Amino acid sequence: MAEKINFFAERREMVEFQIKRRGIRDPKVLEAMLKVPRHLFVPEQMKELAYGDEPLPIGEGQTISQPYIVAYMTEALKLTGHEKVLEIGTGSGYQTAILAELAREVYTVELIPELSRRAQKVLRELGYQNIHFLIGDGTLGWPEHAPYEAILVSAAPATVPRSLIEQLKENGRLIIPVGTEYQELVLVRKKKDGWEEERLIPVRFVPLVTVH
Ligand code: SAH
Repeated sequence: MAEKINFFAERREMVEFQIKRRGIRDPKVLEAMLKVPRHLFVPEQMKELAYGDEPLPIGEGQTISQPYIVAYMTEALKLTGHEKVLEIGTGSGYQTAILAELAREVYTVELIPELSRRAQKVLRELGYQNIHFLIGDGTLGWPEHAPYEAILVSAAPATVPRSLIEQLKENGRLIIPVGTEYQELVLVRKKKDGWEEERLIPVRFVPLVTVH
């Protein structure tokens, strides 16, 4: 008889050894990482690797981010549960689910239709009601629902897109990987008369595609 993998035990280990040990403390982020079934967001033949300490291919040349990076970026947004959040790069929908656990509404934009559709199916089957999907160029944000208290981008542009800063509410936070060969996570805080940027850790993301 084939042995069934205990995915909950795998998630507990993931949270303990990859996430808590590296300094993520927000209890709500840890709870969400423990709850969301990451193995449902990777291709069938990769389920066993879903809780490993690495990004994985999800098709179309794209990847699901490493669990620690998902936790790190989410924590940086300091969500309290009331926010309207914009996500650029739905991909597998895994990060989307984590955001949906921690915010009021999530607006998520993906360029590749097949990926968006697959993510929509998984997230619908999991019962999420607070996620809104758009297939299109996320470089432009999603102006119809702006402003957002928080924005998370999971593909890297060369510089922070101005339209995303514009769609951020005053005191809102934007977390985004920036760079080409060398990339780092940048945290943007919107102020009354402008914004502040803080460089955080070096990362490796797929490029944010520019559509002309
Ligand atoms: N958070 C996702 C990461 C997916 S990888 C996950 O954990 O699964 C980044 C995603 O950004 C890819 O799906 C890619 O297609 C998408 N992307 C790249 N450029 C984009 C653009 N201009 N607009 C919207 N999505 C884009």
